[in-house]
Amino acid sequence: MEWETVIGLEIHTQLRTKSKIFSGASTAYGAEPNTQACAVDIAMPGVLPVMNKEAARMAVKFGLAVGAKINQTSIFDRKNYFYPDLPKGYQISQLELPIVGEGTITIDVNGEKKTIGITRAHLEEDAGKSLHEDFHGMTGIDLNRAGTPLIEIVSEPDMRSATEAVAYLKTIHSLVRYLDICDGNMQEGSFRCDANVSVRPKGQKEFGTRAELKNINSFRFVEKAIDIEVERQIDILESGGRVVQETRLYDSDKNETRSMRSKEEANDYRYFPDPDLPKMVLDDEVIEEIRAELPELPDARCKRFIDEYSLSDYDAETLTASRELADYYEAAVKALPTQPKLIANWVNGELAAGLNRDNLNITDSPVSADKLGQLVARIDDNTISGKIAKEVFEAIWNGEGSADEIIEKRGLKQISDDSAIEPIIDEILANNSGQVEQYKGGNTKLLGFFVGQVMKATQGKANPKQVNELLRKKLDN
Ligand code: ADP
Ligand code: MG
Repeated sequence: MEWETVIGLEIHTQLRTKSKIFSGASTAYGAEPNTQACAVDIAMPGVLPVMNKEAARMAVKFGLAVGAKINQTSIFDRKNYFYPDLPKGYQISQLELPIVGEGTITIDVNGEKKTIGITRAHLEEDAGKSLHEDFHGMTGIDLNRAGTPLIEIVSEPDMRSATEAVAYLKTIHSLVRYLDICDGNMQEGSFRCDANVSVRPKGQKEFGTRAELKNINSFRFVEKAIDIEVERQIDILESGGRVVQETRLYDSDKNETRSMRSKEEANDYRYFPDPDLPKMVLDDEVIEEIRAELPELPDARCKRFIDEYSLSDYDAETLTASRELADYYEAAVKALPTQPKLIANWVNGELAAGLNRDNLNITDSPVSADKLGQLVARIDDNTISGKIAKEVFEAIWNGEGSADEIIEKRGLKQISDDSAIEPIIDEILANNSGQVEQYKGGNTKLLGFFVGQVMKATQGKANPKQVNELLRKKLDN
């Protein structure tokens, strides 16, 4: 039988506010345990939550960016469960009336566009962390993260493969970075997702029973976890069994999913509106103010790159995949406005390869946008060839200075002076009379050989175009 995969994602996105969603404690990552947990975060009796306006604005920003309905009145609910890292005994979340309602986002899978429905995005607080490693036979509790604002972005079950799920996740990741509402750091847990996965016979309308996969903290693991879970479900169904609805944990070391709890064991959260928090009401004015603050979004920026810089779809999409990369590119173009395409080649080529090799982000690039622009300018004005430019690029990467400094120091200036190149050509022709004979006898492919010899003799510094022209002139006469 042919099977179809159905996937819906729930993404927890930490909002980049300075303080927590219901208290004034700092949200900065990496502090000593429990130094950023105030009375509200540790649930001292008698404390009251106060909503952080900035968190609400960020949620609205997201909603507007995905064309969602903004609920101008939304309600906070208590989601009750017991866990050591949740001292209140409940998490403040939104159930019936989330701040962001239905929206959509377009993903691109191998050049094909697909629209994915967003069901909702609600505001909630993060829990603390249990630390198992440093305490023998005990568990430590760090409440620094307790109360960090999140939006949980829930998708429709619209994805049909792990590849689509990853594309969706990357698109949302890029968007929240563009909007500057989340730092996107997956290692630190600022952006994490649960994947709901089911399979059904191809052509069947009803969805199959789903499993919810937890604990997936990288793009690569999302793909692997879904693929392995789909395999598991198909195996069960093909051997006549039934998939049970449950929560499963992905173990990246073993590349397997295993049951955490079934639906029967699932918590009854006993949601009810939090009596300590009033309804949140957003005026039209506030929403319009936020709309006016929206930055240029990835799709619009991509289109503009194609129009303004005459880039290919591929180049523009690659360069706008993250806001930082797009900013870098535009800063480099500013340094050399006449060569947007050549700069795109360098950013997507040599620079991307170097970052990948050294496992660096664009924001940590050892070659600044300015320096790259200056380097490309030296190719553009024929000071150096593209080939020599790669050597110069490496040197800039290694901190040896600017393009001009390196070209000067290493004596890499291209030789573009006919009177300097001609004697070298004459010498090479004289020393290779056999090949000259063959060339004149009709083997014109040998031109490449002569060019190679001249480039070698000049350590790659001769202007290749000129070498070609001069050689032709001499050999064809
Ligand atoms: P819950 O309240 O248990 O989290 P929801 O109805 O909110 O359940 O759905 C959570 C996620 O599961 C959503 O992203 C939704 O798209 C997805 N989902 C629902 N049904 C299925 C299914 N049969 N297969 C795959 N994903 C599903
Ligand atoms: Mg849910």
